[in-house]
Amino acid sequence: PIYLDHLASAPLAPAVLDAMLPWLSAAAVGNPHAAHRPGWRAAEAIDAARAEVAALVGAPPGAVLFTSGATEANTLALLGAAAPGGACVLSAVEHASALGCAPELRRRGHPVILLAVDGDGRVDPDRLADTLARQPAPALVSIMAANNEVGTRQPLAELAAVTRARGGRFHSDAAQAAGWGMVEATAMGLDLVSLSGHKLGGPMGIGALVVGEAVPLRPPSPGGGQQRGLRPGTLPTALCVGFGVACRLARAHAAADARRVAALRDRLWARLSAALPGLRRNGAPDGLPGCLSVALPGLDAADLLLGLPDLAAATGSACHSDAAEPSHVLRALGRSAEEAHGTLRFGLGRTTTAEEVERAAAWVIAAIHAGSPDGFRDIM
Ligand code: PLP
Repeated sequence: PIYLDHLASAPLAPAVLDAMLPWLSAAAVGNPHAAHRPGWRAAEAIDAARAEVAALVGAPPGAVLFTSGATEANTLALLGAAAPGGACVLSAVEHASALGCAPELRRRGHPVILLAVDGDGRVDPDRLADTLARQPAPALVSIMAANNEVGTRQPLAELAAVTRARGGRFHSDAAQAAGWGMVEATAMGLDLVSLSGHKLGGPMGIGALVVGEAVPLRPPSPGGGQQRGLRPGTLPTALCVGFGVACRLARAHAAADARRVAALRDRLWARLSAALPGLRRNGAPDGLPGCLSVALPGLDAADLLLGLPDLAAATGSACHSDAAEPSHVLRALGRSAEEAHGTLRFGLGRTTTAEEVERAAAWVIAAIHAGSPDGFRDIM
């Protein structure tokens, strides 16, 4: 199989597994919150991981709250940091885990405003400024660092500055961008940042919410005092350790890996676009290094991938493939339902090779040509 679905989940880096294994053994017993030597050992390992996570996004270690992933981090940020009575402003292309908070936010009295994006999926800072100027109270703004479906990056520092100028708080879902060294929380003025372990070579089931010092966060669950009561629950030592190592590796290799993976992404685009006239690219070409989203009107992308079970790629949706509705992201970019149904998303990653890219391109091109009984020109 050729695995080109790194944006849904990236493979666990071997060094991450090596670092985690000792913490899964019986010898590593010890609740990291317990006051004895085994507990302290676990707590020390978690503290070291916390420092690595913080370093990846340019934040102080004390700002890192471990969560089960970016979904929980987004929920914690939105439901926990919205100012009483204040609006929540989200871009229309946020991940479902952020957009899904809207009904609960409204129930709690927060007006929810969705910001439109341009044809590449970018939020205009002037549009955000206009929206915030109309709000009677400071707002919580949530705009992702880079989109998981089309790869487009947002002008984070500008958006955060506009938010600050109006007394608001700025949250960014950096699940996809952080692993490529694209996020500097303090330098960019970000108040809250969501991260996910399994998007950057760490294990599934762990992530973080980075919380700026001055940000009041209301804990969602009343029980347990761990992590200052802000995200109670016993921390999973092995997962935290693995996440920390993945962040260290990502930071060390971000620049070189991003260049190499972007070159492979551009090669895949070159192969596909040369053979498939009418193929269109979704999102800004300078987005996430590993993201290539392409649309071919008339194509049934889901059908195509069903016929290519050894090619792991995605359709016009995100991390789950059972949604029949055209993706909300592609619709927000102004794509038609037909284009959304004809969209394939390839997610390249650090382990992707040039040979895999060539083979994947050949499979897709052959399948599309074969799928059109009267010849490919019919579906152009
Ligand atoms: N945010 C973005 C941008 C994502 O791509 C994902 C992927 O699923 C998530 C959030 C959810 O992350 P997790 O699987 O860690 O909950």
